[in-house]
Amino acid sequence: MPTTHATAHAKAGMIARLNHPDYDRWASQIKRTGGCRQPIHLRGKVDHYDPATGQLLHRYTTRTEPDGILRVPCKTRRASRCPACAETYRADTYHLIRAGLVGGKGVPETVTSHPTLFVTLTAPSFGAAHTRREHGGKVQPCHARRNATTCPHDRVMSCTTRHGRDDPRLGEPLCPDCYDYTGSVLFNALAPLLWKRFADSVRRHLAKLGGLLLKELRHHLTLSFAKVAEYQRRGVVHFHAVIRLDGPGGPDAPPPGWATPDSLTRAIRHAAKAVSATAPPYDDQPERVLRWGDQLDIRPITLSGDLTEQAVAGYIAKYATKAAECVGTLDRRIHSLETLDAYDLREHARRLIATCIRLGALPDLAELRLADWAHMLGFRGHFSTRSRHYSSTLGDIRADREQHARDNEITTGRLPFFDDDTVLVISEWEYAGKGHSIGDQLLAAAITGGCR
Ligand SMILES: [Zn+2]
Ligand SMILES: [Zn+2]
Ligand SMILES: [Zn+2]
Repeated sequence: MPTTHATAHAKAGMIARLNHPDYDRWASQIKRTGGCRQPIHLRGKVDHYDPATGQLLHRYTTRTEPDGILRVPCKTRRASRCPACAETYRADTYHLIRAGLVGGKGVPETVTSHPTLFVTLTAPSFGAAHTRREHGGKVQPCHARRNATTCPHDRVMSCTTRHGRDDPRLGEPLCPDCYDYTGSVLFNALAPLLWKRFADSVRRHLAKLGGLLLKELRHHLTLSFAKVAEYQRRGVVHFHAVIRLDGPGGPDAPPPGWATPDSLTRAIRHAAKAVSATAPPYDDQPERVLRWGDQLDIRPITLSGDLTEQAVAGYIAKYATKAAECVGTLDRRIHSLETLDAYDLREHARRLIATCIRLGALPDLAELRLADWAHMLGFRGHFSTRSRHYSSTLGDIRADREQHARDNEITTGRLPFFDDDTVLVISEWEYAGKGHSIGDQLLAAAITGGCR
């Protein structure tokens, strides 16, 4: 590698850090962040007082830490921003999803006997796009049409290529000028509402199957779920969900006898077809009704067999750390069309983002906040959500880990051992920045085995 100004600067920074007397403490801070690429810097102190006498028993201050700060992990779920923290998020999500399938983390093992399905709800088509399909292990031609039509823009609506897995054309429309970009971003914007209506409709249908009024249902049965949004290459979201039937109050009690996998399947099929969400009219355009696509996949989750609980938990956890970057777009907010040119975007992603920005400026569509969520191609929902009774929460799992870290600080003598109930703890923290200098970044990667 040629010695550029940047690498010389990095080397000087690394040498200074390595030679500094507090290097060991710095390295241990870095190890504790687990290789976070963009740690948060905190300045502050924690005082332990005796509540009876007001005596200061112990003080921790960042003043004695390297650079006078404590580095803590950024905790992002986005793998594109920080692979290390996203990996933690992925692992936590995995355990959370798995607990909802086989028990653990406060969920009883009897949950395995509750009807549980893995459901994929898809977006409808917004125009022909290059795809890769396999049939019997063989890749099929993309859009082979014997008597292919020519679109009004003179493009033949056919593609006989057997696309490779990484073909950059995958997800791109056969004709970008025919493609319904408006429909695509409106669908993403309304997908969270569509999901909510879907879940409500499943409950209503189940109540009907059980001969109950909807308001009586919760005294008999709880619909528990964990879902994750996945971007398709064409830039629309799909939802994958674990949907489970519990007794009243959650997984501790079994659902009533009539609530079988079969009745859950029927309720899901019904709901996926029945629900819609409407985008308001704007300019000379009429209102637009959006629904789920025809492809609905419902599969039982079993402990052995095709779709195991590990596979499902792994699948959901993997998508929980992704954003729309898989379609070659950005993982940060975009503020105007002009700034778009600064990014190296594929045409399809650029058009989706531009459509969000254009529609986002219309007062009639203001409530969809499309401009704010242009970088997510219109989707402003949560990537990974769980209903209240699904299993333990990410917060609980994090608290467990933090308690573990605290125990470690106590055994290594950095924190005093006080019974939490008998001391008064007063903490003061302030945000003091984020990230690493270029030299620190290289050193941190070497210490924690990070690749960048
Ligand atoms: Zn991080
Ligand atoms: Zn193709
Ligand atoms: Zn066309």
